[in-house]
Amino acid sequence: MRLPTFDGHNDVLSRLHGAAGDPVRRFLDGDGEGHVDLPRAEAGGFAGGCFAVFPCSPFRGVEEADAVDYASPVARERALAEVLGQVALLLRIERAAGGRLRVARSAAELDGPGVAAVLHLEGAEPIDAGLEALDVLHAAGLRSLGLVWSRPNAFAAGVSFAFPGTPDEGPGLTALGRQLVRACAGRGILVDLSHLNERGFWDVAALEHGPLVASHSGAHALCPSPRNLTDEQLRAIGASGGLVGINFHVGFLRADGADDPDTPLRTIAAHAAHVAELAGVEAVALGSDFDGATMPRELPDVAALPALHAVLAEAGFSAAELGLVARANWRRVLEAAWRT
Ligand code: ZN
Repeated sequence: MRLPTFDGHNDVLSRLHGAAGDPVRRFLDGDGEGHVDLPRAEAGGFAGGCFAVFPCSPFRGVEEADAVDYASPVARERALAEVLGQVALLLRIERAAGGRLRVARSAAELDGPGVAAVLHLEGAEPIDAGLEALDVLHAAGLRSLGLVWSRPNAFAAGVSFAFPGTPDEGPGLTALGRQLVRACAGRGILVDLSHLNERGFWDVAALEHGPLVASHSGAHALCPSPRNLTDEQLRAIGASGGLVGINFHVGFLRADGADDPDTPLRTIAAHAAHVAELAGVEAVALGSDFDGATMPRELPDVAALPALHAVLAEAGFSAAELGLVARANWRRVLEAAWRT
């Protein structure tokens, strides 16, 4: 079941930036590694997605997830340098892609042939208090911003990866964080709530800047990870006209939180059904976390998206509902968030 799909989150730019060889050619020709490259995206019906640029946390000597030094803040200068490299990679891919990929800066540019890439900043560490970096990144194409990754910064606090746990950990937005949310609204940049803690979530909701969006998260009722959303949060997202991009990371899907690829695709469908029940089917979308997480074995990469659509259909989503989940909900919400 090959449906044009918009995916709320991938980390291919982090995967390829600084990797061996020519990262532009690796993406365009397909390197077969990780989860996303252009040939596999085209094969899977990937019509577009949010491409994250991400200032990485320092590692404690070894590059393993459990060795990431989450507690330490990331210095602004280092974060900015890292992010500029990843933005430049996306712009170079666009220049060399011959129309097969474009950076979408307006709702109209989400449509049409080829992949529509939405530039997303995952963690606002590169942004200065004067918002100069925000304006430059916006001019480069930035249209989505997550205040935090899973760590504290000058704007807000992110959730940990503790399991089990709740998103109600840490303080809400700082004064600078509220200023940044308003600045994003004024420029037509979506504010993404994935990785943000619960107090920060409600602080953003209170500002009423537009639809509440969590680009790559799941339902806490089905998997008690702090990265997932409580039923109360899901209802608020639905009431705001926003959406949840269901994350495919097995550790955010399974009731036991295990990092086990032997996780059936119907687990993703169960999260989608739960969000639909509490927030409405207009709030259900996809947010794979490709190239940044552990995928279920039946969904080894972006080329396998049709297998997921088939499972969603089996789970009871009608053809019209599948169209909403695969692409139309993201299309509607991005257009609303980009209206200034
Ligand atoms: Zn993430």
